[in-house]
Amino acid sequence: MEHKINAYNNILELIGNTPLVKLNRIASKLTGNFYAKVEAFNPGHSSKDRVASYIIEEAERKGILVEGSTIIETTSGNTGFSIAMVSIIKGYDCILAVSSKSSKDKIDMLRTMGAKVYVCPAHVSADDPRSYYQVAKRLHEETKGSIYINQYFNELNIDAHYRSTGPEIWEQTNGNITHLVACSGTGGTISGTARFLKEKNPNVRVIGVDAFGSVLKKYHETGEFDSKEIYPYRIEGLGKNLIPGATDFDVIDEFIKVTDEESAHTAREIAKEEGMFVGYTSGAVMQAIKQLNELGEFNKNSNVVVIFPDHGSRYMSKIYSDAWMEDQGFFDSNRVEETQQVQF
Ligand code: PMP
Repeated sequence: MEHKINAYNNILELIGNTPLVKLNRIASKLTGNFYAKVEAFNPGHSSKDRVASYIIEEAERKGILVEGSTIIETTSGNTGFSIAMVSIIKGYDCILAVSSKSSKDKIDMLRTMGAKVYVCPAHVSADDPRSYYQVAKRLHEETKGSIYINQYFNELNIDAHYRSTGPEIWEQTNGNITHLVACSGTGGTISGTARFLKEKNPNVRVIGVDAFGSVLKKYHETGEFDSKEIYPYRIEGLGKNLIPGATDFDVIDEFIKVTDEESAHTAREIAKEEGMFVGYTSGAVMQAIKQLNELGEFNKNSNVVVIFPDHGSRYMSKIYSDAWMEDQGFFDSNRVEETQQVQF
């Protein structure tokens, strides 16, 4: 006899419906009310679970994927982890072409999740045959019965957030959201979420966070792709050296750029002030909030939602390593926190 057990049927049922958490101490120095959508609560610990499961299920519905099919993708790590996780449950093979900028932890994790991983040089142009875009394309052509998710140019990436993240935030704020501030990489998160929110209320201000060294802000402002904007930077998953087709620039009101250094310190501050252990781009989005606050973007009635895309455990050998921070020259004498010797 089967007993009644309150259990999920598999890990994929836990995707989405992440909590919205009020920011307290870190927000006390700012004007307005600030809430974080904490995407680390997804089972794969990032917002990319939504995209992976949605795109794969759409492909199944269309009959494109069959048992034993191979799924190929380019990824800074999070999408790869999510695709690997979904592939395990659904019985697909997973091949990932990743940037050499990705942390060793992320690459080890992907391999642990059964993915075949190709590590490609980070600082080559997108059309270079060694880039992860070109490697993924070639593998797709060479692997019979494979699909290429192509998150940077896949409209379904936007749809995934239009159908889940957007409605969740609208409900969680009871429609009282005034600002959405989110990092833009593929652009799927900010575009899909903003598209939904602006349909509900066109006055919601949407601000995208970009990196120095990326082309997004300039493109948004001028409509021109300026390769002079491109240079190496540290943050993974934020900004781009090409114009992603999965970004709907029309629903983004403006972009703001943040530095590697300030974003790293702000991520550490979120941990210390809010007890929330989140990733590098969560530091970036909070850093953007500080800058926007200085610029007078908010008033006391502002209800600002920020998206914290992933979990801090993925950055132990980077922003949460003092040695790494020192190597980058990110510690200055004013900032180094003393380790206190406690006497018992
Ligand atoms: N933060 C992290 C850690 C990411 O991996 C990504 C995705 N590349 C983003 C933010 C940006 O999300 P999106 O691709 O939806 O713009």
